[in-house]
Amino acid sequence: MSEKTNLKKYKMFVGGKWAQSASGEYFESFDPYTAEPWCLIPQAKAEDVDRAVQAAHEAFIHGEWPKLGATERGMLMRRLGDLIAKNADVLARVEVKDNGKLISEMAAQLKYVPQWYYYYGGLADKIEGAVIPIDKPAFNFTRHEPLGVCAAISAWNSPLMLASWKLAPALAAGNTVVLKPSEYTSASALEFARLVEAAGFPPGVINIVTGFGPECGGPLVEHPLVRKVAFTGSDRTGEHIYATAAKGLKRVSLELGGKSPNIVFDDCDMDDAVKGAVSGIFAATGQTCIAGSRLLVQERIHNEFVDKLVAFAKTARMGNPMETETQVGPVTNIPQYEKVLGYIDVAKGEGAETVLGGGKAERPECGSGWFVEPTIFTGVNNKMRIAQEEVFGPVLSVIPFKDDDEAIEVGNDVVFGLAAGVWTQNIRRALLMSERLQAGTVWVNTYRAVSYMSPFGGYKRSGLGRENGQEAIREYMQTKSVWISTATEVPNPFVMR
Ligand code: NAD
Repeated sequence: MSEKTNLKKYKMFVGGKWAQSASGEYFESFDPYTAEPWCLIPQAKAEDVDRAVQAAHEAFIHGEWPKLGATERGMLMRRLGDLIAKNADVLARVEVKDNGKLISEMAAQLKYVPQWYYYYGGLADKIEGAVIPIDKPAFNFTRHEPLGVCAAISAWNSPLMLASWKLAPALAAGNTVVLKPSEYTSASALEFARLVEAAGFPPGVINIVTGFGPECGGPLVEHPLVRKVAFTGSDRTGEHIYATAAKGLKRVSLELGGKSPNIVFDDCDMDDAVKGAVSGIFAATGQTCIAGSRLLVQERIHNEFVDKLVAFAKTARMGNPMETETQVGPVTNIPQYEKVLGYIDVAKGEGAETVLGGGKAERPECGSGWFVEPTIFTGVNNKMRIAQEEVFGPVLSVIPFKDDDEAIEVGNDVVFGLAAGVWTQNIRRALLMSERLQAGTVWVNTYRAVSYMSPFGGYKRSGLGRENGQEAIREYMQTKSVWISTATEVPNPFVMR
């Protein structure tokens, strides 16, 4: 730990109380722009996790929460949404301190986050069962009930937004939650806990524990009282969590990585497509699961398109992410910084041609932060590692293709299937491509659009289940079938009815 003693010390939020970790240990959270620690986060381990899960279980079984009607749950959620809206700028600044993403993006994101609480708060009292015209002398109906304690484990790139994708439907459904944010970006979740307290949620309904993956996330996934694990992170961790949760026969939803194709046809509006390609890979410094990291360009326009793209990407202003004019910020953490630089070397070693960037950014405006130059490789073929593996940084691979069939073949030839972009003016082509692409989201003539209303999730190794939209609430509910006999005679007890 650093020698600095003046760092802000956060507390966790467990059972409605502010708490240190049982061991009293903290870890540092770093500002990627200065490469310096800026606050201290409690280091929770199994004992702390157990306390949080017990509190969530108690709140689910005995607390005020199960006594509230769905409408009242929704009202509490809307109050929380209002508080987030009021505090969006503060929360955004804390997130930028932790993950180095642009203040312009994080402020807009935090202003949008309340919509999850409004939307699912509104949905809370609209979950209706059915009366089934059953073929037996009985009145049969269904109820959709909560699961119990849900664990939410999330990644560092959009901390409170990704957490809210889990919390909002889980709460609307009547569950209680233990959230473990990423160890790189825990502070905003602990600031958010203040708002949970102010909104008046009963103790134990929302608990936040902070710590490292295996040491804190591990016991949370394993805990026998946890009934569902909602996870955002890498496919490797997702696979491990899926296997662990399987031992407890827990429900799981997984939002994992991607290697999304952004496909540019020769009939596109080229200026729009250039901007779409840039926003697909250089926005958020490429640190988004939906990054359009493989740019497939139709052969006839390949050279002209690459020239325009490089010219445009060159103008990107790097620097302090807290300044609203900055367009490309640092990479969030050292392991990620080293991983991105490692992949740049891999691409060069595989024979890809560097047409932009290709290493560390050592510009004065980048200070001592973890900056990588926006990098574009051409001459990539889809079998190369740089085309197959998720880099999670500002590194774009350009792959030429001949026709629609080849675009589909190359586009789908990865283990992931999170998203895809298509740039064309031809509506028939747009529809056929959106049908044939193996991806949970397809954007036509746009990229990186998400909404609380529209389902989001992955095909193949990009995940299981869906977040957002009406179907997400079902991920946090179970269905009960209730039978009330209307028989006038007692049937033979030895025969199945
Ligand atoms: P990660 O898998 O390293 O960590 C994600 C979370 O899991 C963190 O909170 C971490 O502490 C926790 N964790 C790690 N090991 C664990 C274990 N053994 N048991 C329980 N929890 C554990 O991922 P990351 O580096 O934080 O995030 C980057 C990845 O997330 C990328 O692959 C990216 O594509 C993906 N991502 C996906 C989406 C999506 O919605 N599909 C969104 C954002 C990021």
